[in-house]
Parts: sequence; C-alpha cells; structure tokens
Amino acid sequence: MAKYLIIGGVAGGATAAARLRRLDETAQIVLLERGDYISYANCGLPYYAGGVIKERSKLFVMTPERFKATLAVEVRTGHEARSIDPAAKTVTVLDRKNGETYAEKYDALVLSPGAEPLRPPIPGIDDEAVFTLRSVPDIDAIKEHIDARRPERAVVIGAGFIGLEMAENLRERGVFVTIVEALDQVMGPIDPEMAAIVHQHIKAKGVELYLSDSVTAFERRDGRLVVRLKSGKALPCDMVILSIGVRPESKLAKEAGLELDARGAILVDSGMRTSDPSIYAVGDAVACASPLTGKPGTVPLAGPANKEARIAADNIARASGGAATGSVGYSGSIGSSIAKVFDLSVACTGLSEKVCARDKIAHDAVIVHPSSHAGYYPEAKPFSLKVVFDPASGKLLGAQAVGYEGVDKRIDVIAAFLSMGAGVEALTRFEHAYAPPFASAKDPVNYAGFVAENIRAGLTSQVRWNEVADYKAKGAFVLDVRTPEEFALGHIEGAANISNTELRSRLAEVPRDRFVLLYCGVGIRGYLAERILRQKGWSELANLAGGWKTYEAAAGVQSNEGIYRPGLAHIARARLEPVAYAEGSGMPEALAARSTQMIEVDACGLQCPGPIMRLKSEMDRAAPGSTLKVRATDPGFARDAEAWCRLTGNDLVGIDEEKGIYEATIQKSAAPSFARAANPATLGKEATLIVFSDDFDRALASFVIANGAAASGKSVTMFFTFWGLSVVKKHKAPKVGKDFMGRMFGAMLPKDASGLSLSKMNFGGIGAAMMKSRMKAKKIDQLESMMRSALAAGVRMTACQMSMDIMGVSREELMEGVEIGGVASYLDAASGANLNLFI
Ligand code: FAD
Repeated sequence: MAKYLIIGGVAGGATAAARLRRLDETAQIVLLERGDYISYANCGLPYYAGGVIKERSKLFVMTPERFKATLAVEVRTGHEARSIDPAAKTVTVLDRKNGETYAEKYDALVLSPGAEPLRPPIPGIDDEAVFTLRSVPDIDAIKEHIDARRPERAVVIGAGFIGLEMAENLRERGVFVTIVEALDQVMGPIDPEMAAIVHQHIKAKGVELYLSDSVTAFERRDGRLVVRLKSGKALPCDMVILSIGVRPESKLAKEAGLELDARGAILVDSGMRTSDPSIYAVGDAVACASPLTGKPGTVPLAGPANKEARIAADNIARASGGAATGSVGYSGSIGSSIAKVFDLSVACTGLSEKVCARDKIAHDAVIVHPSSHAGYYPEAKPFSLKVVFDPASGKLLGAQAVGYEGVDKRIDVIAAFLSMGAGVEALTRFEHAYAPPFASAKDPVNYAGFVAENIRAGLTSQVRWNEVADYKAKGAFVLDVRTPEEFALGHIEGAANISNTELRSRLAEVPRDRFVLLYCGVGIRGYLAERILRQKGWSELANLAGGWKTYEAAAGVQSNEGIYRPGLAHIARARLEPVAYAEGSGMPEALAARSTQMIEVDACGLQCPGPIMRLKSEMDRAAPGSTLKVRATDPGFARDAEAWCRLTGNDLVGIDEEKGIYEATIQKSAAPSFARAANPATLGKEATLIVFSDDFDRALASFVIANGAAASGKSVTMFFTFWGLSVVKKHKAPKVGKDFMGRMFGAMLPKDASGLSLSKMNFGGIGAAMMKSRMKAKKIDQLESMMRSALAAGVRMTACQMSMDIMGVSREELMEGVEIGGVASYLDAASGANLNLFI
C-alpha cells in the first residue's frame, strides 16, 4: 500500500488528495495543514468582509470531517510540516495543539504550501491596524476591526486584484477608501490605457487614488494611524490593507535542497515533479515554464493550482501502478485572470504589450471599443478589448478586456485560441452564439481580429495614444473625423475637424506634405477616413488605436488625490467638482431643499450628441431651480454633461455610474446663461453663422454646427445672405409678383432647400440624391429636419434684407420663423459671440 503525504490543505493540496483517492483506493493519504481549515474559498474572503457573502460557513467548501468521510483522507489540521528528509522520505511534523513533533514517512510527497503576502520591514508595519489577507483568520481579524471599530478611512496599499477587491468591499461597508499604488497604474498585468478605464471607474465610485507613490512608514498620531508616503504626504486613517504581492512559501523545499528559481519558487517539470523524483509541487509556490515565453514563472491563481494538483496526482498514481488519465503533462499557465472592480470586470490572458516590450518580443496590438451586445437592444454596455499579437506570423500573444458584461466569455474564448497557438485570423472566423441580448452578429472578438488582419494586410496603420505627442512634435496634421458636436466637447489639442462624412468633399484641406494622424471616437470612422485618404493617394498617415476614447482615458489625469474630507466618510456619490457640504452632516447638502421639480430623463441607447440634445431640450422646458436626472449609456456622456454644464452655467450636482449607466444630476440655473444680454459675462455664449452659399453640403454643415452650438447653450444666429437665401425659402412658396431681374434670379436659383446641389461631384443632381440616400441609410437627419430642429432649439434665422432686395426674394417666400434683418442685427449678435463662421 502506497503512502501519499500532502503539505497544504487548500486549493492545490485538497485537490491533489481528492484526485489521488479517486485513482488509488488502497493508498494511505495524509493531508497536513498548519491552519484550522482546509479547502476554503480564499477567493471569496474579500466578499465576506464586505458583507456580500453573509454567512461565514459559506467560505468552507469542505470540512476536515466531510473530507475524511467522503474520501478517507486523514486530515490533520494544526499540523505543520517543519522539515523534509528526501533521502529517508520523511517529513518532520509539529502538532501545534500539543507542541509535539513526529516523523511521517511517504512514498510520494506533494507540496502545496502556497504563497505568503509580502510584509517588507517598513517602520510601524506591526501596528494592529495594518492587515494582510490570505487566510480565514486574516479575514476574521479584518471583519472584526470593521464591525467593532467602524473605521472611517481605510488605506489600501497595492492595487492588484486583492487590493481592489478589498477596496470595493470596504466601500460597500461605508468606509472611505484611499488606494496607494507604487506603479503608475492599477492591475499590473494589463496595459496602462486599459487600466486607465479602471481608474476612471474607481474614481467615479468615490475612491481616492494615489499612483506612483509608496509607503515609507506607519505612525500613530492622536490615536489615528498615519500612512507616510514617499512623496511626503501623510494619510491619517483607521486601518490599512497591505496587498503588495506574494512570495512563494518555499522555505521547506529550499532546506530540503530542492531546486528553486531566482524568485525562490520551486522549479517543477511538466509532470509537476521537483528536482527530487518522489516530491511533487503545485500551486502558488511553484514555477512552471510559460507556454508563451518558455521561461519559468509563478502564476499565483486558483485555476492553475487546481489543474497542477490533478496532474501531479495522476503522475503519482501512474508511478505507483494506480489508474490515471492519459494527460499527465502540464503545458503551463498563460495567466488568464479576471477580477470584479466595483461594476467593472477586468480580465486578461497571455502577455501584455508592456511585458512584450520588456522581454523584447516582437508584437503589435489592437484596441476596440464595441458594445457588450447589440446596441439596439436595451442596456448595451461599453466594452473595451485589446489583443496583442505577433505582427509577422499573426500569432496571438495575449488579450485584455474591461467592461460591464461579457468580459469573461471574450477573454475565455481568446485564452482558448491562445493556448492552442492560434493566430488573429482565428478570431475573425470565430463563430459565437449570437442573439441581441448577448452579443452582436460581429462579436468584439471578431472585431479585434478584423482590425489586426487589416493591419497585417497593410490596409491601415496605427499610432498609439502615447505616441501622439511625438507625432505632433514632428509636425503631423492631426485630423479629428468626428462630428463638430463631438469635437466641441473635447479633442486633441491642435487637431483640425473634418467629419468623415464630409472628408471626400474637403480633401483639399488635408495636407499632402505632412503626416496625417487621424482619429475618431473609437477607431472605426478614423479607419474609414484613412481608407478614403489612402485610396486618394495619401501614404503617410495612420489611425489612432482605440480613438479618442482610449486617448482621453489614458492621456488624462489618472489619480484623484486629496478628495478625502474627514467627517464625510459616507458620501455615496462621486463628485467632479468640489462642492459645499453641510458641516457634520456626512452627506452633501440636501438637493431637494433647493429644487422645485425632479425630472428624470432616459437617454439610454442614444449616441453622442443625442444625450446632450435631449438634456438641452428637457432643460429648456424645466423651471429654474429644477433638478434633472439624465441617464445615458453613452460613455462620453459623463464628460459631455460636465462640459455642457460649464458652457451653460447650469449646476452639475454629481455624476454617478452604475453598471455602465451614467446618471448626471443637474440643477437648472436660476438665470439661464443663454439669455442674450449686453453683458461681458455673456461674452462667448453666442455664436453667429453667415450662410452665404447655397451648396447642399455647406448648408448641411452650417446646420450641424448651429444645432451643436444651440445644444451647448449658445444663443445662435444664422444670417442668410445672397445665395444662402435659397436655403431658407419655403417649400411650395406662394406665387408673388416680381420684376424682370427677380424673375430671372427666381428661374436660375434653387426653389428651396430640397433643390440645392452639392459643391462637388453633383453630377446634375445625382450626387446630392446619393448624399440624401446615404444620410437616410445612416439615420442622419435630412437638411429640412435639421432646420426644424434649429428653429425648435431657438436658433435665430435672419434673412439679409439687402440680399433679398437684390435677388428679388420676397418675405412670403421665406420659411416660417425666419426673421428679416440688416447688417446691424448681425453685428449685434456677433458682438457677444466668440464663434463667427462664414459658410
Ligand atoms: P493555498 O491555497 O494558499 O494553500 C496553502 C496552504 O498550505 C495554506 O493553508 C497554508 O496554511 C498551508 N501550509 C503552508 N505551509 C505549510 C506547512 N509547512 N505545513 C502545513 N501546512 C502548510 N485566485 C484566482 O484564481 N481567482 C481569485 O479570484 C482569487 N482570489 C483570491 C483572493 C484572496 C483574498 C486570496 C488570498 C487569494 C486569491 N486567489 C485567487 C489566489 C488563490 O487563492 C491561490 O492561487 C490558491 O489558493 C493557491 O493554492 P495553493 O494550494 O498553492 O495555496
């Protein structure tokens, strides 16, 4: 009868014992665990502290008694292995309950001792309020501290997944959380621009974030714990969670002479054998060769620990003549992992771009920002996916995803392709289960494959968000191809704006002697524009990977230091601007007291600038002092709402975000800023456009700008002069008496807006008809409807009296709502404007 001894009774150890029993019913199996518990859910510990897992008993997947009863494994809790004698095949064991030691023999030994949290010798680290988290006793102590001491502020040091899970769960308990991370980003395994999305989310949840800073000491001052940082800052708090990484528990293995790697992890072969043929090792304590780099490394995660334990057990059983499956070799871990960070899911597999760069592995990467499922089905959520690949062979190297839904399945699919050595073309062909609530007909995984394939085929080339400054310095022409409304809400400094739909008619504005750096919202329209330019002869150009969404998130400020206000720990809502609080209330000043009305607006599903247009029209109807709560799924809405409030002078009370739905609370200002007044305070709040042209496309552009400016609260005046008068003529105008010249002009000029022609490629009206049909297909408002919207939004349309006289246009021929004015009325409007356009 063989005797198997296992050290460590949680993920790897318990799995190895259970598998061994299933393969060898005759063996004696002894499981040594120095703690009091085996097979518990370490991954669930943070959620117990947060009260999400309510019953402590739920943490225990298996008790020693049940383990013994079902598997006939001798479980010895409170028994610590102190040394191994490989030659004699014995382990010296300390029974912690009575202090006695004894020797235990083995035929095969499995080491699954795990990894311990790092506790560097920082002054004050032994303070009773500085906690690390690995085991049930650790979480018991943390939970007791929260329950009994009611901490107001906790500092979480280290923003890996355990630190972030603890941050979330402490917040769940109403504790104000400050995260301090030594790197310039959270979640080390992902790349900075993906982490930037996580930063925005953490901040939106009211968590304070310190990046590129580290702790130098813990001190006690006036009864409070103070965390001193390298930057010189001091953070008074009531508890600290230290989660700065783990170290393999390999002391036993080292003293037994087993081979270790440079970081002290136990080296194993693909059969999980250590350098001693009778000793196997699994889990957090071991280093296996990576299937991606060939180099040994540790992957301290539960999935690999369990798989390795099964393989070790199979090999042990096979060597002793027991049953075993055919698969006895471990191919190594590709590092697939996922974490919930508040409402976001953050997942990755394989190599990141930064690891490839560090290890000099040739790589390229794509970033796509599609929705979690079909945009037309309710509650489609933002989703960002990055795929890293070998540019020469197309072989997949890794992937990262951040989003609210479907993150796990996309990363799991790519992980499966990755572990099979597939290339990006496999992503383009991946056939997924599709219906609108779950995905789009083209899944984000397909999209990432398409973009990568386009790059490899030379159809597009990319610039990364962190290369933009270099390109600008070298004189690149930065071209934003989004709509003017989107451009107005934020853009790369110095960029020109020609929307992709206008680009064909405005090619002359794009220089041929400079590098052209294109970008749009997420990359798609930039790519369309790039294809136009490439086919028109431009060769020095590229599209910004991930578009404005990636750039804005990654290039902006990442941390939010100094937001903690003592005494106000329970502020539920994130604030963009500092606001006044009722002293000692613990809550923001009561909103309701100042409000006359609460209006809820659902703008979910609308794309930019839809939510802002909706906000504007609802705000116009609301009484001064009313409060609007506008909900939108467009991820740019949070910024847009902030910018809109700044422009209009309305009061942004707060922005909240939950599961991909942004809710802006805005109080209507008592004195609307878009009221016209000859007052320096109103300067810049007006916009004037002189519409001189009767070209269909130019008229269209002028109404796009006018509507956008009106939506931003500007008081807009459009002054129609000369040929531009045709734009505002009535459809089916009544017959009016005209002189000879008036009749001549009437015969030569378009009858109304429906008869306008394109400034370029009109081809006798075919071009204009094609444009209208494209607009219809793309659900872009037709010119007539834009004109109606402009009137409804309060845009003043003024027809130039002098031009009317010259062209023989009478008052009766003009659309309802068009005023007649002279140059003085234009100048009056222009005096308050900082936007004056001549079209
Ligand atoms: P462990 O599960 O740590 O077990 C080692 C055991 O060995 C310990 O109980 C220890 O007391 C015992 N031991 C050590 N030395 C001796 C000795 N000399 N004698 C006797 N007993 C000994 N991974 C994920 O994949 N997803 C997650 O969401 C996730 N969340 C986590 C959350 C937390 C808070 C923590 C702490 C870990 C989390 N992990 C997660 C990591 C995962 O739990 C580990 O990778 C996994 O448990 C490793 O298994 P192991 O058997 O190597 O070590």
